[in-house]
Amino acid sequence: MSGSTAEAVICGAGIAGIAAAWHLTRAGLRDLALVEAGEPLSLTSDKSTECYRNFWPGPGDGMVRLMNRSLDLLDGLAEATGNPFHLNRRGYLYTTSDPQRLSALRNAAEESSTLGAGALRLHPSGAHAYNPEPEGEHRDGFDLIADPALLRRRFPYLAPDLIGALHVRRAGWFSAQQLGRLLLEQARAGGARLVRGEVQAIAAAGDRVRAVSVASDSGSFEISTPIFVNAAGPFARRVAELLGCDLPVECELHVKASFGDPLGAMPRSAPLLILSDPQRLDWSEEERAALAESGERRLLEELPSGVHARPEGPADSPVFLALWPYHTPIVAPAFPLRTDRGYPEVVLRGLKRLLPAVEPYVERMPRPFVDGGYYVRTRENRPLIGPLGPAGSFVIAALSGFGLMASLGAGELLALHATQRPLPDHARWFLPSRYSDPAYAGLLADWESTGQL
Ligand SMILES: Cc1cc2nc3c(=O)[nH]c(=O)nc-3n(C[C@H](O)[C@H](O)[C@H](O)COP(=O)(O)OP(=O)(O)OC[C@H]3O[C@@H](n4cnc5c(N)ncnc54)[C@H](O)[C@@H]3O)c2cc1C
Repeated sequence: MSGSTAEAVICGAGIAGIAAAWHLTRAGLRDLALVEAGEPLSLTSDKSTECYRNFWPGPGDGMVRLMNRSLDLLDGLAEATGNPFHLNRRGYLYTTSDPQRLSALRNAAEESSTLGAGALRLHPSGAHAYNPEPEGEHRDGFDLIADPALLRRRFPYLAPDLIGALHVRRAGWFSAQQLGRLLLEQARAGGARLVRGEVQAIAAAGDRVRAVSVASDSGSFEISTPIFVNAAGPFARRVAELLGCDLPVECELHVKASFGDPLGAMPRSAPLLILSDPQRLDWSEEERAALAESGERRLLEELPSGVHARPEGPADSPVFLALWPYHTPIVAPAFPLRTDRGYPEVVLRGLKRLLPAVEPYVERMPRPFVDGGYYVRTRENRPLIGPLGPAGSFVIAALSGFGLMASLGAGELLALHATQRPLPDHARWFLPSRYSDPAYAGLLADWESTGQL
């Protein structure tokens, strides 16, 4: 087995590994090996909806602080580089037809606001101050629209029975591939090298990481290193086992569909549109009978809230993305992904309750493209960032459905841990060791909201 050395070896060149490499090179490391078994950014990190928000629940301000920091870094990078990753700040619009749910949205925004996500502005009946445009005055915090007429005036394309909405302003989307490529390019310029192959073993001497074994098409080799970072996404648990550690994560299947939009059903200037109401789909009698027989009986039941969609691509080649996490089983990660052929139709049927103009597509569907991946999750939906296993080994994983928005903040925490520099207060919320803290165990017992969309 041939060998080389590196100041640090990172396992996985998804957005987590690349962001960690970016920060480590900025922290002064000059010889990093980023080991990737497939193509960089191609397993999960190019399957996402590419959205971001700083609207997160407690307990504690960890998630809001992590996202605020991550988005500060993202804003700064966009400004410094001319925004090649097309970061926008359209916001997320959570809509409802139910006054009680609007109150729940208000409560959630109040909580998040208290945790540092910006002010909550109320727009009751007759209020005119609200401006949904991204260039508007308020690009932070929340606008709660409690007047159906105001909602209709500002968003005439939404279903007429919606009575209010929460507009999260520090939110929007960007190109994950462009961001990832930029970070990879800059990390490489700073001294990171991409190594093709699969991490198969990690050796320790005493209780310290010593070397990483990699298998590649051209044979196996060893990289001697004092620092190992597990950024293996859906395989993070398997890689942790190489260190004799159990990562408390599971993989949840999430699928998305994109549709051509020849009818222009999705306004090109829309924010991310979300329906916060559960719903029953209106199947015909024949369809109901067929579903009952096919084993898809659950589609006849009430389906959960959360169908969401946004415009994608340039105005002259319109596409929209749509997702509805109505069935997200916990599974062992396997690739290629197996997805349900009926998913695009179900999503469109759900989406028409929010955006009625998509209705014609239910009958005549523009050829959809379906992909997806796994939300790698802890039970409370918080990431794992910090030391794990023998000295010198670290993890950045369990990035669930927020790995892109959190990448720069999470990568920064990882680099601070690995270079033994002072950590911000919010770092403690993400330590893998938190589960052995009785105070945290107490919080877990009553954990309410995971903030998952
Ligand atoms: C449908 C969907 C929608 C989403 N929407 C959003 C969103 O809107 N906003 C957001 O912020 N996030 C979103 N996410 C989540 C986001 O995509 C993930 O959190 C993020 O991509 C995880 O990045 P990662 O680097 O941890 O994992 P990955 O991108 O999976 O990268 C892990 C890498 O490790 C490599 N690897 C694994 N094991 C080994 C080994 N032994 N040796 C070498 N290499 C190895 C893999 O090949 C892979 O390239 C979404 C996810 C899905 C599935």
